[in-house]
Amino acid sequence: MKTKPLYLDDSYLKEMNAEVLEVLPEGEGTYRVILDQTVFYPMGGGQATDQGILTGDNWSGEVYQVINRDGEIWHFVKATTAPTVGIKVRGIINWDRRYKNMKLHSAGHIIDFAMFLLGYSPKTLVPLKADHNKNPHIVYQGTLEEDIKQKLADKTNELVAKNLKFTWYFQPLEDLKKEAIYLIPGLPTNKPLRTLKLDGVGAVADGGTQVKNTSEVGKIKIESIEKEEGLTIIKYSIAD
Ligand SMILES: [Zn+2]
Repeated sequence: MKTKPLYLDDSYLKEMNAEVLEVLPEGEGTYRVILDQTVFYPMGGGQATDQGILTGDNWSGEVYQVINRDGEIWHFVKATTAPTVGIKVRGIINWDRRYKNMKLHSAGHIIDFAMFLLGYSPKTLVPLKADHNKNPHIVYQGTLEEDIKQKLADKTNELVAKNLKFTWYFQPLEDLKKEAIYLIPGLPTNKPLRTLKLDGVGAVADGGTQVKNTSEVGKIKIESIEKEEGLTIIKYSIAD
């Protein structure tokens, strides 16, 4: 049973009402709960899982992990009893945690757009993967001879200072191709793709939550640029 992912349309939504569609025992005092819709972002695309609470009539649980299995979003919940299938619940995410994750995620994309504007990505260095968690970093296939740390920090923070707008929307692959700075391999062709666009720069395919504009992230620090087995790893951080 598919879950409607409310966080894909509105990254700033903190609460929702939902219906419990399915409940599976997970372990001692823990359950897997599938809802008809959710604001809880499931771990993925380098962004950490949301956490928070679900409450219903005479029932409440603590969401500690969320994952997406082919559109079915599982909320891993600690609770004294299992929720009953069919009950209505209210879900509230831990906003401080989400907002930090969202800013870290957008920061990674700002660095990636800066790498594009500097002419290194996607040709010389091919975007490979990213992690926007405890040790935020983005990884490119390929390496450079020159040291670009200062240049990248300047371009990244120039984008932050410009207060550029981020927008996100769904469109067919054909339309995304026209505005994308690159496309990661293996994108589905049979459904609309979520697009993340940075005003005046370009777009990429993306499934995570994002802030509305670059200045919201604040100053981004390029911690290091490391070379490892033909890869370039850019480590970064943002202010708390
Ligand atoms: Zn992303």
